[in-house]
Amino acid sequence: MRVKIEPRDECLGDAICSDECPEVFVINEEDGLAMVIKENPDESLREAVQNAVDECPAEIIIIEED
Ligand code: SF4
Repeated sequence: MRVKIEPRDECLGDAICSDECPEVFVINEEDGLAMVIKENPDESLREAVQNAVDECPAEIIIIEED
């Protein structure tokens, strides 16, 4: 899978995704918005990434299948 945050400027910076899956998401210290640090996470992280997708209030986290 491939993970994106798009459009990133709609991020609310609430850190829900980075709490749910810190291996994939972090809050950028400069702009306070979430960013993806691992675009192709291992399948073992799928449930955590999916939780982030489901819980993101801005609905901007996208999973694409390879
Ligand atoms: S859960 Fe969504 S709105 Fe919240 S920080 Fe992550 S990408 Fe941004």
